[in-house]
Amino acid sequence: MQTDIAIVGGGLTGLTAAAYLARAGLQVTVFEKAASLGGRAATQVHQGYSLNRGGHALYSGGAATRVLRELGISFHAGSPRGVQALFQERFFAYPGDAASFLSTTLLNGAEKVELLRLLTRLALLKPRRLAAESAHAWIDAHTRHTRVRQLLLATARTLTYSGNLDLISMEAVVTQLQLSLKRPVLYIDGGWQTLVAELRRAAEQAGAHLQPGTRVATVLQDNGRVRGLELGDGRLYEARAVVLATEPADVARLVADPLLKQRLATLTPLPVACLDVALQRLPHPERPVSLDLDQPRFYSAQSLFARVAPAGGAVLHAVRYLDPTDPGQARAHERELEALLDLAQPGWRDLVVKRFFLPHLPVMGAVPSASRHGFAGRPEPQVEHISGLYLAGDWVGHEGYLADACFASARQAAQLLLADLARRGAPRHVRVAA
Ligand SMILES: Cc1cc2nc3c(=O)[nH]c(=O)nc-3n(C[C@H](O)[C@H](O)[C@H](O)COP(=O)(O)OP(=O)(O)OC[C@H]3O[C@@H](n4cnc5c(N)ncnc54)[C@H](O)[C@@H]3O)c2cc1C
Repeated sequence: MQTDIAIVGGGLTGLTAAAYLARAGLQVTVFEKAASLGGRAATQVHQGYSLNRGGHALYSGGAATRVLRELGISFHAGSPRGVQALFQERFFAYPGDAASFLSTTLLNGAEKVELLRLLTRLALLKPRRLAAESAHAWIDAHTRHTRVRQLLLATARTLTYSGNLDLISMEAVVTQLQLSLKRPVLYIDGGWQTLVAELRRAAEQAGAHLQPGTRVATVLQDNGRVRGLELGDGRLYEARAVVLATEPADVARLVADPLLKQRLATLTPLPVACLDVALQRLPHPERPVSLDLDQPRFYSAQSLFARVAPAGGAVLHAVRYLDPTDPGQARAHERELEALLDLAQPGWRDLVVKRFFLPHLPVMGAVPSASRHGFAGRPEPQVEHISGLYLAGDWVGHEGYLADACFASARQAAQLLLADLARRGAPRHVRVAA
């Protein structure tokens, strides 16, 4: 069997790359081993409740919203309001906007002045300048008041999903902070499956052929050039190029290449533990979203801001940020998340319709670490020593964090692939300028 381009992975990244390449006139086939598309952006729907796999928020104004607009994809969403900080088991207004900044009793006057000075500085900095500094080191070095430090550390964890701020580059924190200061983050109606469905429509309308339920076993190569794929059932597909839109561990399994495997072995995936809960109703709407200053935890009642629950019902997402170098015990994390909901939403246990505890979910294929100079240390979308092989995902390329990196690298991989095809003599029907 033959296809111009084979894409492995039917999540946000694979579908985005498929839409761009199919629009350019190429014959594109997407292989997804799961029975349905979406990967980590899939949403579980249960009795009218839409539960993302872990709380998801789209940072508007970054690569994701830019690419979605370019592909003609629109969606409805709401933004969280009334965010609180949990400190020593008490809830305070989180100073994330002017009104809460003035009203909060979490900080005294001197602490507010220090926070304002730091936020102003971070808002104007080029994130890349802080790429080689860890979030922890930077925050420690630039804060005088303990409470301001605790608040910034909790904010950094929430912005990056990272439970180890010694590892992660301050570039990631500043990138996300600047986006969130400019525009509100978005909770998407129907969950992130809405984006998956729209990307699927865009890819299929452009002519891409999607094959869920099809595992790829190996990328076939010949003298440093990609020839195609072997599927799990032994079928062979010839392809001019292959885009791997999977996590790094999958890439290592798919490509028999010592150099690439060596490079992938240096990457550290970033896990979290999540408690996703559907409730008959929300016991305490006055506690919508909380960042925890004492422990690496966060929770949000997303149904207050987006349509993800039937009338009167509620969806809560609680997240425990993990240290990838020492992730700890799943049972302990589940208890910590339950305890957070006990504090924020007492009575929730009697109202449960459905709950999912996901002990170890990879938020991102690789942490942009300070030691590898942040985003610049991530692999490039084009694998230089294997012609016709491309990578894309939240661990690839120099632009953006989380889903922003997925969309940016998918677009970049498609552009590089089209440019390469143009050099090698693209088929006549292909528009090489994407
Ligand atoms: C708990 C949690 C919270 C998150 N919150 C946010 C957030 O708030 N904001 C944000 O921007 N991002 C967030 N993310 C990150 C975001 O979900 C991911 O970056 C994005 O969904 C990754 O998409 P992807 O297509 O690159 O990878 P994936 O979704 O992992 O897709 C890869 C696909 O490849 C398939 N595959 C692998 N191997 C093979 C094979 N051999 N053959 C065929 N198919 C294969 C897999 O089945 C999978 O479907 C969060 C992630 C998690 C887990």
